[in-house]
Amino acid sequence: MKAKNKKYKEAVQQKWKCANYPNSNLQFIDNYKCPLYIISDGTFDESCWKLSTDNIGNSHALCPSCHNVKKINLSIYHHELKQNNIDIIKNIK
Ligand SMILES: [Zn+2]
Repeated sequence: MKAKNKKYKEAVQQKWKCANYPNSNLQFIDNYKCPLYIISDGTFDESCWKLSTDNIGNSHALCPSCHNVKKINLSIYHHELKQNNIDIIKNIK
């Protein structure tokens, strides 16, 4: 229940709008344009948004599209990070 309250607080603070507003340059979303701002003013409703946290602990509410883009970019980033570590280990040997 506590987590849910935090989630709601964030959405209310953002006035139920996706945090990926034009030129916000959010981490791991980069230049992806939020479809909600293309078709309207970025407002999502209660049924479709996700709370997202960046690596310095800031959280923000994102629409499902932006959340998915972030999720995909994050997994690519972690994959590359892992790959780089493997390459470094291989070079050491
Ligand atoms: Zn969005």
